Amino acid sequence: MRIGIFSDVHGNLEALKVVLKALEKEKVDRSYCVGDLVGYGPNPNQCVKKVMQFSDGVVAGNHDRAATGLTPTTNFNEYARMAIKWTRKVLNENAMNILNRLPVVLREGKITLVHATPDEPEAWHYIFTYTDAHRSFGALKTPLCFVGHSHAPVAFVRNEEGEIFTQDPTEIKLEEGKMYIINMGSVGQPRDGDPRACYGVLDTDESRFRLKRLAYSVEVVQEKMWKENLPSYLIDRLSAGQ
Ligand code: ZN
Repeated sequence: MRIGIFSDVHGNLEALKVVLKALEKEKVDRSYCVGDLVGYGPNPNQCVKKVMQFSDGVVAGNHDRAATGLTPTTNFNEYARMAIKWTRKVLNENAMNILNRLPVVLREGKITLVHATPDEPEAWHYIFTYTDAHRSFGALKTPLCFVGHSHAPVAFVRNEEGEIFTQDPTEIKLEEGKMYIINMGSVGQPRDGDPRACYGVLDTDESRFRLKRLAYSVEVVQEKMWKENLPSYLIDRLSAGQ
């Protein structure tokens, strides 16, 4: 089976369209989104609709929760808070109801899907250090876990001896006995210095995961953001992928 995974769409319809088209072309059997459908970008309603239509499972991110008021924005920076305020104003009732009902963790066979971390998923921790990864692996009940949240793709691997190391997620041959937490990067606001949208394909027959990048019309999104008076910091960072 081929499974498509993507994360952190953030209301960026142009990037999302390119990714969904690619997943169709890849002939994936199932698709999952690991959260943050909205926040930052100019098309939250359209993105919620498209992600829900396309995906077999979707979990809530901190921005989705913040948009519906389920999570406070106290930990958000000034720009993120401004964008959430705008998002709340434009979200229609249908999208609001959908976001309100999203689970925080999904388990599908050998895969866990969660936006932030498997331990305390609603505390919205990040997995940056080996200590963070250690805590997450400890809470994980499946050999494979997909996360988002940091907008920077990376894979943490734990071997049978309990040692943890990182791996480039571009191509990973998944090995029996090892556990993997793979950060999917971001569709709509990558922050690893590469402005292209991220998505991944897991091939369960081949036990192989691949993370791919696709260019999209950044300028079109930026133009829409200008029209909506969204913070210029958020507009500019899209071209830099930071
Ligand atoms: Zn995010």
